[in-house]
Amino acid sequence: MNPLLARHAGKLIGIVGGGQLGMMLAQAGAEYGLKFRFLDPNPEACAQRYGELVVGRPDDPSAVEKFAQGVDVATYEFENFDAKAIRALGEKTKVFPGPKALRAAQDRMSEKKLLKKIGAPMGIEPPAFLQVDNPGKAAEAAEALGVPMVLKTRRWGYDGKGQRVVREAEEAESTAVDLGGSGLIAEAFVDFDRELSLVCARSGDRTFAAYPLVENLHERGILRTTVAPAIDVHPELQARAEAFAEAIMENLGYVGVMTIEFFAKGETLLTNEIAPRVHNSGHWSIEGADVSQFEQHLASILSVEIAPPELKCSTVMVNLIGSDPPDAVIPRESGVQVHRYGKANRKGRKIGHITCIANNARAAGEMARRVRAAVQPYADG
Ligand code: AMP
Repeated sequence: MNPLLARHAGKLIGIVGGGQLGMMLAQAGAEYGLKFRFLDPNPEACAQRYGELVVGRPDDPSAVEKFAQGVDVATYEFENFDAKAIRALGEKTKVFPGPKALRAAQDRMSEKKLLKKIGAPMGIEPPAFLQVDNPGKAAEAAEALGVPMVLKTRRWGYDGKGQRVVREAEEAESTAVDLGGSGLIAEAFVDFDRELSLVCARSGDRTFAAYPLVENLHERGILRTTVAPAIDVHPELQARAEAFAEAIMENLGYVGVMTIEFFAKGETLLTNEIAPRVHNSGHWSIEGADVSQFEQHLASILSVEIAPPELKCSTVMVNLIGSDPPDAVIPRESGVQVHRYGKANRKGRKIGHITCIANNARAAGEMARRVRAAVQPYADG
């Protein structure tokens, strides 16, 4: 809880996007008397159970007009929409995070350049990368970076979509063609030990707070499991990640929750990407911390003072992907907390998550193994 948020009871928060992130923001905000409105082209958007839904796209001026009416502050729960829409919205109401952050996160080329510029002096860099504007450049990139190499679309990718690993240099050109032929980025493949992410927040009043680094396990590009906090993280590594995040946020004039994904190799951190929003790898904080990432985000965009969260327990979060497992198969254990988003089953879609809560990491890990084994037959649809 952040009691200071209650001073804003009755305020109307506009959220671009009405998916589960918007839904969980609204669930958190309802505790403080905040009201919510969502803008989403999907009339079935799951967040609508927690506020008013304006059906429309962020690039539709009449939908934005309707959405912005009477909103005290607006934010967004996904970043794949035209940044110009945020400028139009910004003429009607305050929007956080601002357009600079959105633009940086939308294009992998500008994102990587920013990560390198800020991180290089701190010893935290992205993998080597090259812009690929045509298939011939992909072949040149494979020559320069070596294989394996990862080819990604610069824009609109998510959950591993729009990216392929190139294992043989001869495949580089055809892989680039498969990905559209232009507007791509090539990255050196990182043989990481593990993937970590830092969920952190910067409030409009400039206070900063970060959660402990968490460890994320992906399969086929989709996050499956988050271990919070990550095991055996040296305090110096945490401090380095936080200093880096603060520097990025300072550069972007950032307000809100941001997530930075890292590849870790020993004590070296490489940056992967930033998400200018609350993040799947922070869902554990609903049960695991005294202030959730959703409360931190709302406090930040309302310029409420934020403080470093206190951990309440060890948690492991398991995503439900594709199809919903029946209640009967989910282990009935006291530390098992099921979150369903009310979304229809669809292959590869995140439809819920289960948080496994225990007073030590080993017990939370064992609980998560039982949960994963039970839900695995339903995973991916
Ligand atoms: P992204 O959409 O860039 O976060 O990529 C999705 C997942 O693909 C990451 O979480 C990693 O598991 C993997 N991946 C992405 N880029 C690289 C890379 N350069 N080297 C190794 N694995 C990668």
